[in-house]
Amino acid sequence: MNSAHSTNLLEHDHRFVWHPYSSTHSDVPVFAVKSATGAYITLEDGRQLIDGMSSWWCAIHGYNVPELNNAVHQQLATMAHIMFGGLTHAPAVRLCKKLVEITPEQLETVFLADSGSVSVEIAMKMAVQYWQARRQPGRQKFVSLRNGYHGDTMGAMSVCDPVTGMHTLFSDILAKNFFVPSPECCFGSACKAEHLMELQAVLEQHHEVIAALILEPVVQGAGGMKFYSADYLKQARALCEQYDILLIADEIATGFGRSGKLFACQHANISPDIMCVGKSLTGGYMTLAATLCTKKISDTISSNPPFVFMHGPTFMGNPLACAVALESIRLLEKSDWQAKVQAVEKLLCKGLDPCKQFDDVMDVRVLGAIGVVELKAAVNMPNIQQAFVDAGVWIRPFGKLIYLMPPYIIGEHELNTLTGAIFDILNNGKHR
Ligand SMILES: *Cc1c(COP(=O)(O)O)cnc(C)c1O
Repeated sequence: MNSAHSTNLLEHDHRFVWHPYSSTHSDVPVFAVKSATGAYITLEDGRQLIDGMSSWWCAIHGYNVPELNNAVHQQLATMAHIMFGGLTHAPAVRLCKKLVEITPEQLETVFLADSGSVSVEIAMKMAVQYWQARRQPGRQKFVSLRNGYHGDTMGAMSVCDPVTGMHTLFSDILAKNFFVPSPECCFGSACKAEHLMELQAVLEQHHEVIAALILEPVVQGAGGMKFYSADYLKQARALCEQYDILLIADEIATGFGRSGKLFACQHANISPDIMCVGKSLTGGYMTLAATLCTKKISDTISSNPPFVFMHGPTFMGNPLACAVALESIRLLEKSDWQAKVQAVEKLLCKGLDPCKQFDDVMDVRVLGAIGVVELKAAVNMPNIQQAFVDAGVWIRPFGKLIYLMPPYIIGEHELNTLTGAIFDILNNGKHR
């Protein structure tokens, strides 16, 4: 509580700690958090902020959730960790079974990973090993969409948008893959053949060297917060079949209800060959991700040289993380999450729509529990970050995007405060 402690903490943070995507010389303020409960974050200096970010899509049930706390405590009393090579345990087995049950039908085998980026690396390695096993070793390239984001490790970066992913910085180290334009057909509208022309052209011309198409279904997250037509996804799935190319669905951001469906693939009723989940998998409690694949892929890799899948993280299947993930899914299933996400969607629409009147605003869009205000120019981060905290909300814009993805449990008053804060800041120009 006392501000001397808080100042000391921030001083040491500034001296010793490097934050995500930041400069150690940055003038963007950093705030010290003491605790978080429900949809509220309490700072060390005692101020309370309403959470509009769910800690980057993760904390779908809010913070300090009794059921999730319990799941961790109970597991901790039994076993915090055990290696996964040659050993197994109930939390991991039950979680994998559950994931197979709730994800699209054809996904039958689960490979657990420690973070989203790693699950994408695993998906890409699976695709390459699958084609090796099928005696088509030339298929080692990937196709992805511009404005896509798939993580920060080398393989994942090679399929991120080349501009925002700064491919020029890493030009000699990143694999060269194929990119097609971000889908132009918006969510809710139909997709014409011309919208998939470039994808079709790349597949037609290069299918012999392509292992998979990787995309974020329906919602492009960190690469631009865009929502595209489910029809595009459906047609892309069909093109993959036509050219015998695997489809990897990266549901790390969209999974577990965020877009209004449990998984965004369900907007198009498609089943990918490989799917990545992460982020809200544990309700934001621990780092855990998973790569799911079809029986055909796991069988093909397992019955051809080298007869094993070449991956195995040290902390694979961490029991604490698996136990809390299981409980998070159970909580989600027993809650009326779909109604909650719909209610959030309605309030986001109502609260953000008035932002359209400002000259600085390019677009306002909402899907499920995601609300986006896209500006014409990048925000002034030091100014806007301080202004949001002064307004009692935690909203973390990036570039031209101010967006909300609150915990599903958020109340109407809290949500209106979040959207109201965005309106006020655009109105008084503190984003500039
Ligand atoms: C966040 C994210 C990742 C990377 O996950 P990390 O856990 O940050 O490594 C990959 N793909 C998508 C779509 C994401 O939103």
